[in-house]
Amino acid sequence: AKPIHIVGGGLAGSEAAWQIASAGVPVVLHEMRPVRGTEAHLTDSLAELVCSNSFRSDDAANNAVGLLHEEMRRAGSLIMRAADAHKLPAGGALAVDRHGFSAAVQQALLTHPLVDLRREEVAGLPPADWDSVIVATGPLTSPALAEAIRSLSGEEALAFFDAIAPIVHHESIDLSIAWKQSRYDKGGPAGDGADYLNCPLTKPEYEAFVAALLAGDKTEFKEWEHNTPYFNGCQPIEVIAASGPQTLRFGPMKPVGLRDPRTGHRPWAVVQLRQDNALSTLWNIVGFQTKLKHGEQTRLFRTIPGLQNAEFARLGGLHRNTFLNSPRLLDASLRLKAMPRLRFAGQITGCEGYVESAAVGLMTGRFAAAERLGLASTTPPATTAMGALLGHITGGADATTFQPMNVNFGLFPPIEGTLRGKERKQALSARALRDFDRWLSPTPLAAE
Ligand code: FAD
Repeated sequence: AKPIHIVGGGLAGSEAAWQIASAGVPVVLHEMRPVRGTEAHLTDSLAELVCSNSFRSDDAANNAVGLLHEEMRRAGSLIMRAADAHKLPAGGALAVDRHGFSAAVQQALLTHPLVDLRREEVAGLPPADWDSVIVATGPLTSPALAEAIRSLSGEEALAFFDAIAPIVHHESIDLSIAWKQSRYDKGGPAGDGADYLNCPLTKPEYEAFVAALLAGDKTEFKEWEHNTPYFNGCQPIEVIAASGPQTLRFGPMKPVGLRDPRTGHRPWAVVQLRQDNALSTLWNIVGFQTKLKHGEQTRLFRTIPGLQNAEFARLGGLHRNTFLNSPRLLDASLRLKAMPRLRFAGQITGCEGYVESAAVGLMTGRFAAAERLGLASTTPPATTAMGALLGHITGGADATTFQPMNVNFGLFPPIEGTLRGKERKQALSARALRDFDRWLSPTPLAAE
């Protein structure tokens, strides 16, 4: 068979190469390091971990990323095999010896007879005779390739200063305090003017919140982040607050057009949340992008009435990130709609994290191999961690506010019944593994 070309030998590209070669299809893997470096990579190893050495929780029964680990293991993941072989003691987390881990990934690929590793930059659109290409060049995609993809996609920019706002699990919002209403009762899914959830603040609560925001511990800027534009020109809330004590009250926290049903009055200030996924399990805090340290965010946002028990699916943050508006640009099997010979994998698709990037690489590799072999392929069910992540990237997320996302149980279709907390997670996880095994099994199981 003709080879499949993969651009980028990071977490996603290495896993995709392994999946394709394991299916018996030849792969050419193009990795630009050490010919050309990135702002964060330090070595020329494949699958280098650029920052922490943790793959996060390994608890498959109670944690969505642990569940993703387990699904990947069952699908023969090289990244998980190397991580397990180079595991370090880290409580319930899967932390790895970064050098041993990367070396194991590289060794497995170099010794595979169907993998051809080439150390070169793909500095523009891949040549037309590469009929099946996976672009897995990550958040630090080289500028020449990013520019070529940008002009293909019709987007204005691909590399953003990500100023991202926190996302809250809907079930953790106190609905005896927060109420549903759009400003001046406009819009709403049923035209009922109830698109937003509103959390009211009194004058003293607002003043205390602003003071805490200004005193909060902020993350440091990285040297290389200076030339990248803010996404949508979003300013972090602490920057807005610093321009005057009332500025937030005339910005993202303005209370106009809203009435608290408990008091019958307009509150002094509000914090608004907007639905973030089709399932309505995740809600983002509108206009609340921030570069406060994560611990500070959790503490401070829980002082907002209605969010006192908030559980966060993602906290705010700021860093350079190259990613596609995947819900708009990619089809269900991660092909670029405007040029289907190009598939995408890893963080550039808008997932976030080592494990998620590798998982998307695993799926993309399988889709590309099946296509090359003329086999029918299906996407993993939405009830699995992989399917939930894929569904979010390729359609579940709102394209107008799309931002990189970690895997979390809020992306899964809810489970029937009244289970809460630990029991609910365990039920979601058991359902996922059962459905994942069915997806992997070569012959469909008999109907129950
Ligand atoms: P990468 O692993 O970056 O792989 C992309 C590869 O493509 C690289 O090897 C690069 O050299 C190569 N490449 C780029 N352009 C070209 C080209 N034109 N031609 C050929 N090769 C090319 N996630 C976590 O889970 N934990 C963390 O602690 C963490 N820290 C991060 C810190 C920073 C500074 C950044 C930017 C991201 C971090 N992430 C972290 C997010 C993400 O998980 C990692 O970036 C992850 O490595 C993404 O995997 P990937 O395969 O998509 O990209």
